[in-house]
Amino acid sequence: TYVVTEACIKCKYMDCVEVCPVDCFYEGENMLAINPEQCIDCGVCEPECPIDAIQPDTREGSEKWVEHNRAYAALW
Ligand code: SF4
Repeated sequence: TYVVTEACIKCKYMDCVEVCPVDCFYEGENMLAINPEQCIDCGVCEPECPIDAIQPDTREGSEKWVEHNRAYAALW
């Protein structure tokens, strides 16, 4: 899965939301989140983010963001 990280806070350009083929982005209070259960790992959103806030969960330090994204997405 891909995850949205802290760089997204108060940004919300939404370019990523428009390209996601499975609509798994959710809008949280101050940042976006990807539902890890719905993300098909296509990677299309990553280059769309102007501030590089989206990264694969395989990258170092992503673990906490997977949980954060899961929690945020579950609120909807
Ligand atoms: Fe959507 Fe693909 Fe990004 Fe996952 S990797 S959030 S499926 S655009």
